[in-house]
Amino acid sequence: MLIRKNVDLKKYSTMKIGGVADFFAEAKSIADLREIKEFADSKNISIFPIGGGSNVIFSDENHSGIFVHIQLRGIIKMYENAEFANIEVAAGEDWDEFVAWTIKNGLSGIESLSAIPGTVGASPIQNIGAYGTEVSDRIISVEVFDLQTGELHEMSNAQCEFGYRDSIFKKNIGKFIITKVVFQLPKKKPGIPQYKDVQIYFGIRKQKNPTAEEIRNAIIEIRAGKLPDINTVPNNGSFFTNPVISKKEAGLIIEKFPNIPFFELDNDQIKFYAGWLIEQAITEDFKNPIVLYEKNKLVLTNPGGKGSFKALQEKIEDIKGAVKEKFDLTLEVEPNII
Ligand code: NAP
Repeated sequence: MLIRKNVDLKKYSTMKIGGVADFFAEAKSIADLREIKEFADSKNISIFPIGGGSNVIFSDENHSGIFVHIQLRGIIKMYENAEFANIEVAAGEDWDEFVAWTIKNGLSGIESLSAIPGTVGASPIQNIGAYGTEVSDRIISVEVFDLQTGELHEMSNAQCEFGYRDSIFKKNIGKFIITKVVFQLPKKKPGIPQYKDVQIYFGIRKQKNPTAEEIRNAIIEIRAGKLPDINTVPNNGSFFTNPVISKKEAGLIIEKFPNIPFFELDNDQIKFYAGWLIEQAITEDFKNPIVLYEKNKLVLTNPGGKGSFKALQEKIEDIKGAVKEKFDLTLEVEPNII
């Protein structure tokens, strides 16, 4: 395995911002990860895994440490019966290619998570979610390489401490590298997600009982209309998570802003829609190379890759400040900042 020096991190982030990494390697096997750990220990430096780069932002300073592009591959059917199949997927597999694979293989359960950029290994970190499905609904276990001990561990779904766009991995960035994810996927036809855009899509087509493949196609089409293509306009997808607060606190905000959209969650909590809050709080896009995406204010874009990390930080502070001032709600950045 090759360890490279002074590698530009920009091209490993879909936001196209980032400085230079002192060391960089591609990990294709567990043996590679062990070798990288030995190298890092010998130099007393940290290890930073990189997947598809859609949920990470690198600051544009010099990064000490070794950055590891996770290239572990393989999809294996471990078990199946008439109702479901258990599928083990290596962390470096592309998420959307895996979703397409499940549908080709007669499985359902993650079709609503179609067209989400990134790798399978990154999916549990922020517990990716869309149209009412969270990846944690389908995960049985996650295998991790412990960066402190160099050992592999299998973590059950409960041990992953999944929450809304959250997990133990997100709370402990730098502790583990995810190497495999095991999913349990049903064979039955899925229902239509109870989200307005999807309901409208099938309503227009008078389709009451679509297949998983038809739902996947619908999601791909809907997302393409609302999100910029990461291959042409640098971005990180949704940039802020929807704020979730107690019903009691939310009551005061709803009273003050009767038009505010909100959704009731379990445990007496209320979720507000970050995209709407930003749209209301920001009347004019500030002068900055980082701009809010015209069709969806939840997305920050870096047209032409011209923005710096500093410009992005300023933009984040402007947006968070404006939302806090108007609604007294705190927005959290979704991608990890390194
Ligand atoms: P949308 O359908 O216009 O809905 C706006 C917001 O309201 C979403 O944030 C969604 O919360 C919430 N919402 C809408 N209908 C809901 C329902 N029936 N029950 C509970 N919550 C509901 O949102 P959108 O921007 O077009 O996104 C559609 C879906 O794709 C959302 O689930 C969104 O999270 C997901 N998405 C994720 C990313 C990403 O990068 N992580 C990017 C784009 C879209 P939730 O976000 O909690 O679902």
